[in-house]
Amino acid sequence: MKISGHKLTPDFAEISEVNKTSGDFKRNLPDTIVIHYTAGSSAMSAINTFKDPSVKASAHVIIDTDGKLTQMVPFHKIAWHAGKSSWLDRKGLNQYSIGIEIVNAGRLEKSGDIFRSWFGKTYRMEDALEAVHHNESEPSWWHRYTEEQISAVFELCKTIMGTYQIRYILGHDEISPGRKSDPGPAFPMEKLRERLLHNNRKDEVETESKIPEKGFVNTKGLNIRSGPGVNHNPIAEPLSRNTELTILDEKEGWYQADVTVTGWVSKKYIKLIKDS
Ligand SMILES: [Zn+2]
Repeated sequence: MKISGHKLTPDFAEISEVNKTSGDFKRNLPDTIVIHYTAGSSAMSAINTFKDPSVKASAHVIIDTDGKLTQMVPFHKIAWHAGKSSWLDRKGLNQYSIGIEIVNAGRLEKSGDIFRSWFGKTYRMEDALEAVHHNESEPSWWHRYTEEQISAVFELCKTIMGTYQIRYILGHDEISPGRKSDPGPAFPMEKLRERLLHNNRKDEVETESKIPEKGFVNTKGLNIRSGPGVNHNPIAEPLSRNTELTILDEKEGWYQADVTVTGWVSKKYIKLIKDS
């Protein structure tokens, strides 16, 4: 993937520019990437919303379900994706950040085997994931991101970091907590930061293998909890020995694991499956 003149080159992205910007970033900016979901059904609907002159919103790049990119604002211009927001001593993150919108329905309502988005579209069980949002205490259902989207986000952030001095990668739900829930617990935010920010001065090999991919339960009955620590409530029946799990994240001796639900398990009871 390549950036030329503050735009992704045409072999990597469709360019559909809108003039909804507050002008150029100040010196040494942007230094932040903010990740969003569109809370919509398609890239087309997101693009049309951003093209609509009556909607005061825009973003730099939209990532479709198949991983296809559309750039709407060049990277040296301030877009309108963050709204009222703050991080550390900063307020109004638009003036510091590149906004990436991933096409995703967001929170889903479960009724029987059907999962329904706020705009009425239904999704199958395999497209839904149950997890506790880091700003909340009860589990909800969330629309899963596709593998193509996740790898497109990783690749895009890496490319942006090749051109701009990025210091922070944040979720909208971290800079506007309470008001916003995107990208939510279905997005592997820690993994993205771990790969791109925390290890970016080490070699590639080490960077790639920081968070293990898979493991299985190595004890009889393991609690899966809403957060990393025994003070967080279990969110499902204990996992039985040899249950295989996908590891999404790692924090203070705990793994965030995806089984039938997504929750946190103590690392010491997980035996890792090493890739051959
Ligand atoms: Zn957002």
